[in-house]
Amino acid sequence: MTTSILVINCGSSSIKFGLYDKSDLKRPLLSAVAEKLGEEQPDIIYQGAINGQVMLPARADHRQAMQVFIDQAEEDLSALAGIGHRVVHGGERFHDSVLLDAETIAALKELNPLAPLHNPINMLGIELCQELFPGVPQAAVFDTSFHQSMDESVYLYGVPYDWYEQDGVRRYGFHGTSYRYITQETARLLDKPVADINLLIAHLGNGCSACAVRGGQSVDTTMGLTPMEGLVMGTRSGDIDPGLIEHMMRSRDLPMADIMKQLNRGAGLKGLSGKSNDMRTLLLAAKAGNDACQRAIDVFCFRVARQFAALSVSLPSVDAVVFTGGIGEHSGVVREKILANWPAMGFRLDDYPNRKNGSSTQGRISVEDTPRVLVVPTDEESMIAQDTLALISAQLS
Ligand code: ADP
Repeated sequence: MTTSILVINCGSSSIKFGLYDKSDLKRPLLSAVAEKLGEEQPDIIYQGAINGQVMLPARADHRQAMQVFIDQAEEDLSALAGIGHRVVHGGERFHDSVLLDAETIAALKELNPLAPLHNPINMLGIELCQELFPGVPQAAVFDTSFHQSMDESVYLYGVPYDWYEQDGVRRYGFHGTSYRYITQETARLLDKPVADINLLIAHLGNGCSACAVRGGQSVDTTMGLTPMEGLVMGTRSGDIDPGLIEHMMRSRDLPMADIMKQLNRGAGLKGLSGKSNDMRTLLLAAKAGNDACQRAIDVFCFRVARQFAALSVSLPSVDAVVFTGGIGEHSGVVREKILANWPAMGFRLDDYPNRKNGSSTQGRISVEDTPRVLVVPTDEESMIAQDTLALISAQLS
């Protein structure tokens, strides 16, 4: 009998694995992360049924890492019911997660131009699993699909319409799997049907975005054609005036590629602070008097508040503001600063749950009878496992 679901998140130099028993899709039996693939000292770190670090051969690639994982987790993988893959871009074709077959795989490959850095590497994970787990059903779960419910007036840019028709230029949004999970969890916490819930959610990790959820569906989000739009992030700029690209090319006599690289990898918290893309480091430095780090935090927090306010126009009312992602879940100081930038709402945080920094902060952090503010830890892997099991079960029934 098949009893487990494997979740794979294949990145350019890493693979994250999550193995779940079908009866408990919240707590993985085994998690593992293979990192620094293609570099000098790649490794896999295991947690759960196996624990600890295993070094991989120098420059080991994705295939080698997957083979090592399979050999070491052999016993737990013997009853695999299905594999769920995180896929970054589902374009307009995929409104929901899908089982992978020749047709869906061909459609997925056509989307590569929309996410050239991500989709091909997600596809590599799919192809490796087809080879290494022959006959096991596989599903794709997309970062974009939750946002396919956005209205045309929300997803179109003010650019020539044929850019949309011919080149796919529109806002797609990302972090959708996280937002779907948070919507589901928040509905449960508030004891409301998902279809009745209206939320403003900020997913603040290395990548950051925010989303307006109306009646359980995404109606607006801050990321766009690519994950560069919207909030200030660890190393990405978020919203800028596109005119600054031309200005900087002229001013520094640099090619477009160099400016784009800076906007992707050298901007955001890292660029503003000149020190780090890591919020923990910035908070410590700012506390010790580093003005540049404080400035980076201030810009970051202002932009989240401003985007919350912009997103709120799509909602008839707000049942809760929800924070998630590494920063959203762990930093009371940042949450407080964000909400202080939107005084008209009358937020009042309760110091005890809000300042209790660390993973144990969960649930409501605002004072009774003031607008609800919640911290809800995200779990994209669990959502992928749930979708995969649902798709396999539907196919069998
Ligand atoms: P990813 O987007 O790569 O999944 P995470 O969701 O883990 O990343 O978020 C990483 C961010 O969370 C980093 O900026 C990190 O500094 C921040 N973070 C983690 N723990 C804390 C904490 N206790 N206080 C403030 N920031 C934190």
